[in-house]
Amino acid sequence: MSTVIPSEIVAATEAVLKNADRPVMLHEPLLEGNAKKYVTSCIDENWVSSVGAFVDRFEQDLAKACGAKYAIAMTNGTSALSASLIMMGVQPDDEVLIPSLTFVATANAVSHANAVPHFVEVEEQSLGIDPVALDQYLRETVTSKNGLSVNKHTGRVIRALMPVHVFGHPCQLAALKAIAEKYNLLLLEDATEALGSRIGEQRIGSDGVAVFSFNGNKIITTGGGGAITLQDEETYKRFKHTISTGKLPHAWRFDHDVVAWNYRMPNLNAALGCAQLEGLEKFIAAKRNLAERYAKAFLDVKGARILQEPEGTTSNYWLVALMVDDGDEVWLEDTLTAFHNAQILCRPLWTPLHQLPMYSASPRSDLRLTESLVQRVISLPSSVKLNAA
Ligand SMILES: *Cc1c(COP(=O)(O)O)cnc(C)c1O
Repeated sequence: MSTVIPSEIVAATEAVLKNADRPVMLHEPLLEGNAKKYVTSCIDENWVSSVGAFVDRFEQDLAKACGAKYAIAMTNGTSALSASLIMMGVQPDDEVLIPSLTFVATANAVSHANAVPHFVEVEEQSLGIDPVALDQYLRETVTSKNGLSVNKHTGRVIRALMPVHVFGHPCQLAALKAIAEKYNLLLLEDATEALGSRIGEQRIGSDGVAVFSFNGNKIITTGGGGAITLQDEETYKRFKHTISTGKLPHAWRFDHDVVAWNYRMPNLNAALGCAQLEGLEKFIAAKRNLAERYAKAFLDVKGARILQEPEGTTSNYWLVALMVDDGDEVWLEDTLTAFHNAQILCRPLWTPLHQLPMYSASPRSDLRLTESLVQRVISLPSSVKLNAA
C-alpha cells in the first residue's frame, strides 16, 4: 500500500479546482473565437465535405504551427497512423515497435496495417520509449538479414519504430532516431497528444513524419480529425494522393492509379480546426499555468508529484499527470474512488496494451516499469477553462 493517503491527494487537487463547477471533467474542449463563424460559413457557402477552402487553410496553418513543410488533414488520428505505416513501407506480417503504455489506437493502427505490434519498455521522465532499454533489447533480439532487422524469436522483420509523446511530454526522440537508423527501422511519431510541444526550439512535427489527432479530448479539436505532418515534397504528394481516393486531376473523368483511401478531413471539421488553431498558443499557456498550479499544490504531499516536462523540452501539458513513488492496485482504486466521490473525474493510465486480449500474444520486452507506472499515475482534470477557475 502506498504511503500517500488518497484524501490528501484529493485535498491538494481541490486547492487548485476550488471554484470549478462539479463534476469536473477530465478534459473538455473550449470552442470559442471564430468557431461558430467559420462553421456557419461552410453551411452558408454549401461547402461541407472533403474539398473546401478550410481544408487547404487548416493544412497550411497546421504546418506553420508545427514548423512542418507539409500537413495532410485526415478523418482521425488512427487512420492517419495506419495509412502512414502502410505508405511508409510497412508490409503485412512485419513487426512495429511501440510502447505498451499508450492509448489502444497506437496498436490498432499497426494491426490495421496488417502488422504486429511489438511492445517495448518506457522510462519514467517522459513516459515514452526508453532508448537505453530499447537498444539493449534489440541487441539481444534482432539478427540482421539483407540489411533488415529480423526478430530471432518470431522470424518476422521488425520494420518500424513508433514512439509516442505521452500527455504532450516529448519522448527522447534523438536517441530513438539513432536506434532507428542503427537497426534500419522506419520512424513514425505518434504525436497525437503533442501538438505545440517542443524539443529545444524544434516543434514536434517539424522533422520526419508525425501524426496528430484532433479528437474532442485533444488539445485542439475538429470534432474528429487527424493529420500527418511531413517534410519531403514527393512523399507529401504521394501520401495526399493516396488518402484522397487516388484520383487523377481531370475536369470530369474518374481515373485512379492506386488502391487508395478516402481519409480526407471534411471542410466542416477543418473550419472548426482553423478557429481552434487560432487559440493554440493561448491553450498551451493556460495548460502550462494549470500544471504549475498543480505542481505547487502537491509540493507538500510527500511521495507525490506532478510529472514535469523532460529537461530541454517544452510540453503542451495536454493532460497533467500525478505520480506517486510507490503505489499498487489498491491505492489506485482507493484514490480514484475518492476523486469520483468528490466529483473530480480523474482517470488512470491506460490498461497496458499487452494485457488486452487481442494483444496478449504479441511479442514484448520486459515491461516491469510499464506495469508499475499504471498503478501510480493518475491524470488530473486538465481543461483549458480550469486555469481561470
Ligand atoms: C488520441 C490518440 C490516438 C488516436 O487518435 P484518434 O483521432 O482518436 O483516432 C492515437 N494515439 C494516441 C496516443 C492518442 O492519444
